[in-house]
Amino acid sequence: MNIEQIHRLFLECTSACTDTRKIKNNDMFFALKGDNFNGNTYAEQALASGAKYCIIDEDAYKTSEKTILVNDVLETLQELATFHRQYLNIPILAITGSNGKTTTKELINATLSQKFKTTATVGNLNNHIGVPLTLLSMTKDTEIGIVEMGANHQKEIEFLCSIAKPDYGYITNFGKAHLEGFGGVKGVITGKSELYDYLIKNNKTIFVNANDPIQIRKTKKAHVFTFGNTVSGTNVSISFVEAQPFVSCLYKGVIIQSQLIGEYNFNNIAVAITIGDYFEIEPNKIKLAIENYVPTNNRSQIIEKGTNKIILDAYNANPTSMRAALLNFEKQAGFKTAILGDMFELGKSAKSEHQTIADLALSLNIDQLIFVGENFFQSKINSEKAMKFNSFEDLKNLSDMSKLQNTLLLIKGSRGMALERVLELL
Ligand code: ATP
Ligand code: MG
Repeated sequence: MNIEQIHRLFLECTSACTDTRKIKNNDMFFALKGDNFNGNTYAEQALASGAKYCIIDEDAYKTSEKTILVNDVLETLQELATFHRQYLNIPILAITGSNGKTTTKELINATLSQKFKTTATVGNLNNHIGVPLTLLSMTKDTEIGIVEMGANHQKEIEFLCSIAKPDYGYITNFGKAHLEGFGGVKGVITGKSELYDYLIKNNKTIFVNANDPIQIRKTKKAHVFTFGNTVSGTNVSISFVEAQPFVSCLYKGVIIQSQLIGEYNFNNIAVAITIGDYFEIEPNKIKLAIENYVPTNNRSQIIEKGTNKIILDAYNANPTSMRAALLNFEKQAGFKTAILGDMFELGKSAKSEHQTIADLALSLNIDQLIFVGENFFQSKINSEKAMKFNSFEDLKNLSDMSKLQNTLLLIKGSRGMALERVLELL
């Protein structure tokens, strides 16, 4: 069966699904393989749970007309998404970068959905499987598609662009994330810039933060749409008002008061406003969209527990976002304790990056510091206001976190550290 024929069958289905536990009636099930599972073995179960068709790549599991045998399920998923994207023929906006992709995507989606029927990446489905699934979730009703693209090595964004063929793009920033796979910061810039390369080559539109010298340098030849408040010749001017306790800004005489903390969120908000402006959404509707957005999933969430107030940023961490979070935290009032967990995927730089963050944290106006994880444990940390633990288990067994009272807490670390567990100790 060729891809056009599979696409015809796909149009009979509700949606594409890769997880039998989440199957909806009339879904098309893709029997993907992983290191520890073989989706083919779930094909029958998928049909029993309501799947209309199953795409499989092992002969032994072909049981009926409803199981469609292909060479490689993953490749078929990607080809189908590529075909579907052409079939839809709608504008697609792609977002990549080191930090803030999901937050920015959510803010842009909130803004654009004030005027258009949008379909955006759900959660963090931003890789070689998530991007195809996102595209397949778009229908003839979708007026604009918003796609988050993640990468941890070269050529990944290029590949995702070949599937999603974006018309618009934005790179949040070039930071110190996934240094291991990209081979250093230069590698990050090259890798993320594959989105620019695609857009420039195809004469598409790039949204650029005029305050970011790398973005400006990389997009000279492009059809760019800039924003910022310090550079002349920008299309949209958005002024930063304040970040305490939440980020607010001024756009066309309207004050927009977000529910996001941390100065780093200013750019995330500003680009959403810029894109809303570009698509001619009324300032008051843009305001409504931004003001109603509340972060979820441990991304800079504010939680109150007992007498403590917690900035829970345990979703992920890398040197760039850790630094941004610490500098923001320093400016808060009250007795402050930061609980910082290891940052993963730093490769050779791990030792020095942890030491740099530890030194920075110690130099700031933060009353108490608790470092957790093997890398921080090996860093030189000699200060009366600091403690370090080799693991979360050590923190749990060797400290009494329930003693923390009347404190403002920052909790931040890589996903693998799962520092949201600290909440249970308070
Ligand atoms: P992932 O790589 O997991 O998809 P992401 O790029 O989608 O991450 P978000 O989930 O939006 O990023 O945000 C994760 C964290 O990154 C936030 O909680 C915050 O600490 C930090 N962050 C968000 N925006 C920025 C920014 N513009 N600059 C630096 N750090 C940021
Ligand atoms: Mg994300």
